[in-house]
Amino acid sequence: MNFDLDDESREIVALARRVAIERLRPAAFERRHTYAPPTENLKLLGELGLLGLALPEEYGGGGRSELDAVLVIEQLAWGCPVTGARAVMAMTGPCTFIAKFGTEEQKKRYIPPVCAGEERWSISLTEPEAGSALTDMATRAEIVGDTCVINGGKTFCGAAADSDHILVFVRFGPGVSGIGAVIVHRDTPGLTLSPRHEFMSGSSWYELFFDSATVPASDVLFDGDGMRKLLSAYSLERTATGALCLGIAQIAMDMSIEYAETRRQFGRPISDFQMIQDKLARMYIKLESARLLTYRAIARSANGLPSRIDSSAAKVAATVAATEVCHEALQIHGAAGMTREMPLEWLYRVVRPYQVAGGTTEIHLSMIAAELVGRRFDHRHPQS
Ligand SMILES: Cc1cc2nc3c(=O)[nH]c(=O)nc-3n(C[C@H](O)[C@H](O)[C@H](O)COP(=O)(O)OP(=O)(O)OC[C@H]3O[C@@H](n4cnc5c(N)ncnc54)[C@H](O)[C@@H]3O)c2cc1C
Repeated sequence: MNFDLDDESREIVALARRVAIERLRPAAFERRHTYAPPTENLKLLGELGLLGLALPEEYGGGGRSELDAVLVIEQLAWGCPVTGARAVMAMTGPCTFIAKFGTEEQKKRYIPPVCAGEERWSISLTEPEAGSALTDMATRAEIVGDTCVINGGKTFCGAAADSDHILVFVRFGPGVSGIGAVIVHRDTPGLTLSPRHEFMSGSSWYELFFDSATVPASDVLFDGDGMRKLLSAYSLERTATGALCLGIAQIAMDMSIEYAETRRQFGRPISDFQMIQDKLARMYIKLESARLLTYRAIARSANGLPSRIDSSAAKVAATVAATEVCHEALQIHGAAGMTREMPLEWLYRVVRPYQVAGGTTEIHLSMIAAELVGRRFDHRHPQS
């Protein structure tokens, strides 16, 4: 496996690092109080050509590899976690689905504004009775003439009110093969959003209510076979989410190294104590091993979409490592780490939910085991 980057990739990652230091980090920790959309940062990233890095050049993207995109996401997340999360959605979210499965008209309409940092997207899969059991989704879509009419309800849709469009997974027919996906503008008649709810990080989520919400039929991305397409294209976003968490946990790692050297107790830096050394070394190993799995998942993927086992392994490794690193960073900082003045407790609150978002750790472990033994586990009838 070769992770060597060519000169152009090195320059792109170095540019992302510079932007992270000079433009993103100065206001990064203030964003935790409001979670206002980082509009100006996304415009800047769009102007620099970073947001559409792995999207096709003919639609305003950079035509670079998914590995470049993931390395850049890690740097942006290190610079500013809120901007990094938005970059994951722009660089590996709904536009990846559109680039892979969309019509020419959809590609021309929807990909360029995302590459330019001008439009934002959310993705909506989860329903109150369909979380891990996603194929139980009941929200229905029906093509009526040249329109598509949607009825039902979704939940836990991240940042929906701050997005221009939502890629909504719906049911066109019975069974797994009946699941499809529709592009829905946030202001579509018949779509109502709940008031703003918050995850533990402070980021927003919304319920979506569809009451004969009507969109043009040309905005149907696929009217069936949605789960297979979802699982293939979502593997990139999941792996990128792992990279996001690694970038955020690196902030906690950096702060811990500095604090261990500057905080003195018993007349010496706390880094002199072997139990602190043990923590720093183990944090480093966790981050680096998860990084290797993440980069490998991308580097050996076909068409930039990692295999199911690789993306699940990378996602679990990265999100668990990030949570553990942030947890240990809190301990190294003592009482200072437990305060709200420091961003450390927030970093923990940002990474922890990613063990649930994008498929829970348990579901990913089950998918890995299924690949290992070469058969599908039936979660509905576990004894069979
Ligand atoms: C921060 C965050 C952001 C999110 N953003 C979005 C978004 O933008 N759009 C969207 O559609 N959704 C979003 N979600 C929802 C997310 O996709 C779901 O929370 C996730 O799929 C799990 O569903 P659930 O919460 O209903 O948990 P449940 O499915 O109810 O699971 C509860 C517990 O049971 C375990 N469990 C369930 N089934 C099994 C099984 N077969 N084997 C072993 N254990 C099992 C789970 O692992 C979990 O520990 C987000 C969630 C979070 C936390």
